[in-house]
Amino acid sequence: MGEYIKFEPSKEPLYGEYKKWNMYLFHKDKLLVKIDGDKFIIPNGDDIKRLKLDVYHLQCLGAYEKTDCYSGEIEEIKDDEYKFIDLRTYSKNISHDEFLVGAKALLLLDHVRNNQKCGVCGTKMIMKVSGNDRAMICTNCDNMVWPKTAPAIIVAVTKEDKILLAHNKMFPEGTYSVLAGFVEMGETFEDCVKREVFEEVGIKVHNIKYFGSQPWPFPNSMMIGFTAEYLEGEIKVDNEEIVDAKWFSKEEARKISRKSISISSDLVEWFVNR
Ligand SMILES: [Zn+2]
Repeated sequence: MGEYIKFEPSKEPLYGEYKKWNMYLFHKDKLLVKIDGDKFIIPNGDDIKRLKLDVYHLQCLGAYEKTDCYSGEIEEIKDDEYKFIDLRTYSKNISHDEFLVGAKALLLLDHVRNNQKCGVCGTKMIMKVSGNDRAMICTNCDNMVWPKTAPAIIVAVTKEDKILLAHNKMFPEGTYSVLAGFVEMGETFEDCVKREVFEEVGIKVHNIKYFGSQPWPFPNSMMIGFTAEYLEGEIKVDNEEIVDAKWFSKEEARKISRKSISISSDLVEWFVNR
């Protein structure tokens, strides 16, 4: 499967011995990397053995391109060859797929260390052994906690040959993007698209179609992208998050959109190239 799907989740190593493992180790949410010129390299099992590190909450993540990957937490170390960096810095230096492996590692570590005690009865929790899921289970009351992800929709709304782009007050001056928002509990993605667009810019949409998805691990979100067509209404911004919204032609959208690793720039690109 390693060629069909680059990352194979697994609680047990699938390939090679520990020397070849990729070790994603964190201290205060910063990733330990080996410095090689301007490149960041994930240390392997041999490097970690040499550094004589105690690793806490060690978990096998699965394999990336047929190399087993582990996550864990370590104390701070001082070594000229190594450095701790945050995931945003790491993302600028490597491919998006590799970045996501680092993100998975931090998400798994968070899940394990945030669920050491049961939220119902306060007793110790342990990783469930059976099955391939990552549930933590209470040793007293059987309460189970699965890794949490917060879904958010992101949508490109079009009206004939124009796209709706909005300026969020958090954005840098003069930049516009597609609309996005968190899914409420018990809400379908489609209803969330309708509600978010209506709340933020006061228009109704239809013909909602799935576009793609992107994990957004800052800290544990999942963006689900859609396209939708204008149905009715006039633009009226909420002034809470969105302070301006307009219909843009392809030419204008090309000029004003922000290029980024996010699915939002893929949606704008889809519109200007359609
Ligand atoms: Zn319990």
